[in-house]
Amino acid sequence: MPSQRLGKILFATSNPHKIREVGEVLGASGCSIAGLDSLNESFPEPLEDGDSFEDNARIKALGYAQSTGMSCLAEDSGLEVDALGGAPGVHSARYSGISGDRASVDRANNEKLIDAVAGMSPSELSARFVCAMCWVSATGEVLGETRGVYEGLITTEPRGENGFGYDPLLWLPDVGKTSAELAPEEKNARSHRGAATRAMLQLMLAQNG
Ligand code: IMP
Repeated sequence: MPSQRLGKILFATSNPHKIREVGEVLGASGCSIAGLDSLNESFPEPLEDGDSFEDNARIKALGYAQSTGMSCLAEDSGLEVDALGGAPGVHSARYSGISGDRASVDRANNEKLIDAVAGMSPSELSARFVCAMCWVSATGEVLGETRGVYEGLITTEPRGENGFGYDPLLWLPDVGKTSAELAPEEKNARSHRGAATRAMLQLMLAQNG
């Protein structure tokens, strides 16, 4: 079966949520991923100074493929709010400007977003998560690039304990829940990361067939 030939791929992130979400999709086809924290040494973090999610995903995949000598999958993702001209966009991870542990940074980012849209109702606050994914060979050749989007509305009343980042603020009117209230498999079925990973898996299977 082609799926059994995909083997193990480096996934250039240390975000455990991203590793689980991507791992669940790829794992179903026999491909396992290893996050950066599972490597025996640490490698320099490439400077993510691109203007787009695609640029940053490529920077990460090429950078880690070069430094590790491994085939590498990377993704860059974030939230675009139309009423804010697409912000926080590629700056989603560092929107609040504070540093610290993941939970504190997520909390500060969410508070800043709630302040930024204060006084507006969810119906005016169309938004989407975007995920750009890039797969690079051990020799630095770009083998595949995919993108997924996950549409919703911004609520200023955070709800839910699942997921990470801005998940408690992305309201999904069709199910009457935020993204953080979805079970992990429900989020993966409709999310930007799930869609980008499923598209990438098709490219991987085609190249390994
Ligand atoms: P990156 O790790 O540099 O790609 O930053 C992505 C940032 O976008 C994260 O820190 C989150 O703030 C946000 N983000 C991306 N994907 C998601 C998601 O699935 N749920 C919630 N927030 C997300």
